Amino acid sequence: LLRLVVFARKYWGQLTLAFLCLLASTAFSLVVPRMLGRGIDVILTSGDRNFLIMAALIIVAASVLRGLTGYANTYLTQLVSQKSAYDIKNALFERLQQLSFAFYDRAQTGQLMSRATVDVEAVRMFFGMGLLGISQTLILFVATAVIMITLDWKLALLSLAFMPAIAWRTIVVSQRLAPIWLKVQQVIAALGTTLQESLSGVRVVKAFAWQQGESRKFSADAIALYNAEVETSRQVAVNMPMMTFLLSLPTALVLWYGGRQVVAGELTIGSLTQFILYLGMLSMPVRRLGFLVNNLSRVVSAGQRILEILDTESQIKEKPDAVPLEKIEGRIIFNKVSFSYDAVSPTLKNITFSVQPGQLVALLGSSGSGKSTIASLIPRFYDVSAGRITIDDIDIRDITLASLRKNVGIVQQDIFLFSATIRDNIAYGAVDASMEDIINAAKAAHLHDFIAGLPEGYNTWVGERGITLSGGEKQRLAIARTLLVNPAILILDDSTSSVDTETERHIREALDKLIRGRTTFIITHRLPIIKNADLILVLKDGELVEKGKHRDLMAVNGLYYRIYQAQLAANEGEDLAGDEHGTR
Ligand code: ADP
Repeated sequence: LLRLVVFARKYWGQLTLAFLCLLASTAFSLVVPRMLGRGIDVILTSGDRNFLIMAALIIVAASVLRGLTGYANTYLTQLVSQKSAYDIKNALFERLQQLSFAFYDRAQTGQLMSRATVDVEAVRMFFGMGLLGISQTLILFVATAVIMITLDWKLALLSLAFMPAIAWRTIVVSQRLAPIWLKVQQVIAALGTTLQESLSGVRVVKAFAWQQGESRKFSADAIALYNAEVETSRQVAVNMPMMTFLLSLPTALVLWYGGRQVVAGELTIGSLTQFILYLGMLSMPVRRLGFLVNNLSRVVSAGQRILEILDTESQIKEKPDAVPLEKIEGRIIFNKVSFSYDAVSPTLKNITFSVQPGQLVALLGSSGSGKSTIASLIPRFYDVSAGRITIDDIDIRDITLASLRKNVGIVQQDIFLFSATIRDNIAYGAVDASMEDIINAAKAAHLHDFIAGLPEGYNTWVGERGITLSGGEKQRLAIARTLLVNPAILILDDSTSSVDTETERHIREALDKLIRGRTTFIITHRLPIIKNADLILVLKDGELVEKGKHRDLMAVNGLYYRIYQAQLAANEGEDLAGDEHGTR
């Protein structure tokens, strides 16, 4: 909790001011019962009119001042709480942006979203009411208690005797509530995950006609949330009347015992009135304590969840003396590289190869053999477990991450489009690109004609995940995006590429343009590209079993030969099928 308070420390000036206003407002509110009590005594004794007028004026003035300082206090604390929440949210987001692929391999989106929203909100509420609320509660309690003791110490002790019971009750309730709050927060996160998954996977859900299953999953989470929330309400509901009851006991006692003292002439009616009014004021901080303790248990669990993320270190760290990669040639060397996702079973074993600037490297091997893994090591999405990777003879761990990734362009298999215009999606990595550059990139990617044919052209909105674009169009958009950034090194995951059709030709021509002049790694089934590659890497179970050019590898008559023959046979089958369509 203290670590989160650090976020509010920045605003200590405003907090101090708020605190002073709080002190003033508390002091002003304490004036009113005193004046009332004194006034009643004056009425019953001297009947001094001037004093009565003065007392009335003081009460009005104190109330006005109390209102003003109360306003300032509330406003300032809310200001600080909102600003701190804003800072926490930004810190969280920044951290989430930094975290490595390894973190996201394990994280659930819904969980992360609930931390950035629900949990931050809980902490904000605490900053708003709890941070100063606790001190206010204490001040109000001590000040009222002291005034009561100076008025009549016996009566005061009588009433204060009940406070330990109330405090005990508060602690019991908060201890019961703490695990339920934790549960509420966990269930909200689970609910978020279910919601997020069934929404982004809505096509799969519908295709498998599994709406009912998703509804059941959601309703199970929702009922758990309902139960937990109802339980907290029940606890609070039981607690409220209990507190009221406990607080009514000293009032009754004061009336009985104090009344006897008044009758015996040991206490004035005005003092008794003052006393009862202060007793009423004393109940406020005591009740608030219950609320605060309850709030505190919620904040502690929310804070833990937030700090969990803030404390997660990215596994990919930039060295303090990392150098930016300037204009590069694009020579890449893998030197005895091994890698494991889980630090248990190796995914890549002892991979060594070197690529000259501008060369085309084709990665081959059955699915799961480690092709994509090799590709994701180059931009340092993961760090090697052993060995090293160099670009232009610099170890990639010595290069700043931003400059490394600017120099390595990636066209992934699963292309993500942002909810934005086509123009903004193409310019995603190059925000300051001119319209002319964007159009040129689109032309090179064979996408311009398609875009020009759209009613709003480049300003056409691409829906979430670009559902209005076909797979081929998306791929060409990704190619245009990468062309615009113009990286010296290129990684193309083209593994789902299908057979020759009209769009296929477009894609291939776009790919050819993209590859030209760059060191390129490509995962593909396209034989013409593979045959032309300067280096073919054949992988099997994470090991590099063959490397070389097409001709050399064919001569070896090994795994490459077999893959090639199989692919050729598959392509011929498809070509034949295509011909049949053509003649029909
Ligand atoms: P390919 O691209 O050749 O199909 P990959 O490089 O994707 O193969 O995968 C190699 C192996 O690593 C597979 O066994 C796969 O299950 C595993 N793997 C891939 N990505 C991850 C990941 N993010 N976390 C853990 N294991 C992974």
